[in-house]
Amino acid sequence: MRIMDDILTIRGLTKRYKTGHEALKGIDLAVRRGEIFALLGPNGAGKTTLIGIVCGTVVASGGTVTVDGHDHARDYRAARRLIGLVPQELATDMFETVWSTVRFSRGLFGLKPDDARLEQILKSLALWEKRDAKISALSGGMKRRVLIAKALAHEPRLLFLDEPSAGVDVELRREMWRMIGQLRDEGVTIILTTHYIEEAEEMADRIGVIDRGRILLTEEKAALMARFGSTTLTVDLAEPLAAVPAGIAETDATLTEGGHRLTYVAKAEEGGVTVPQVIRALDRAGVEMKAIETHRSSLEEIFVDLVERRA
Ligand code: ATP
Repeated sequence: MRIMDDILTIRGLTKRYKTGHEALKGIDLAVRRGEIFALLGPNGAGKTTLIGIVCGTVVASGGTVTVDGHDHARDYRAARRLIGLVPQELATDMFETVWSTVRFSRGLFGLKPDDARLEQILKSLALWEKRDAKISALSGGMKRRVLIAKALAHEPRLLFLDEPSAGVDVELRREMWRMIGQLRDEGVTIILTTHYIEEAEEMADRIGVIDRGRILLTEEKAALMARFGSTTLTVDLAEPLAAVPAGIAETDATLTEGGHRLTYVAKAEEGGVTVPQVIRALDRAGVEMKAIETHRSSLEEIFVDLVERRA
């Protein structure tokens, strides 16, 4: 059995910017070793601030951050050494070669050069053939991979990816997802922020939702989808109904299309009337059904619902 301990622990983290804006209002968060954790939140929720504090570019107002047992404040260098950050865009280095920019990134952490290790990283990201190319000459997909190689150059155990597929096409997005999965398989813990909920649905083991500086919840993706998810049932009827038939009249089932269509939303959380129960009730009432369709809610719908419920 794999033991899941926490590689990142955040307690009571607050951030008040000079403007007086409270971007983080007491964040408690634990990320387990070896998982892919997706931090979801609308614009301005505090995702960048949170990552900035853990990566040392933003100073916290209060609270503690511990990375693999190293207290972020007392033992910053040791904590930071364990972290890699993949930003959204390559800021500099356009005229450097792939090899020298990745080698330099390792040196920034005071590590001895290890060309064999860098070779391995570049090969695993399919950049080895391009090691002598100038970054400016690379395709968009290759530039993204260079960002990952730079972040991996000092062999971090915890990798932050900030909106990994923002502004990339479908093919590159798939490639990013494949690479993220591969890194996790190699034992790197991954934290990704995203607006793009399909990404979390595809990749994450656990999901955290942040909104207006607070964590609304953290939960296993599968459990979250089971708990908050719903199934919408749509039944097209052969003959129009004037009223919802007995047996399901007490539910929220509704009739539309002049009585030709019955719609019912079965919520997982309430343990209420299920889709099969509705169908049986229609059958018992002698209602002739032309077509039956069900639709399970996506993580996107669940997320919008959660954030809106608090609005
Ligand atoms: P986005 O997805 O839009 O980047 P986010 O979840 O990353 O959003 P943050 O960038 O952390 O959110 O911003 C959180 C809040 O703090 C926002 O209201 C933002 O305007 C504010 N904020 C961010 N940086 C600063 C700053 N340097 N000074 C003042 N306020 C800031």
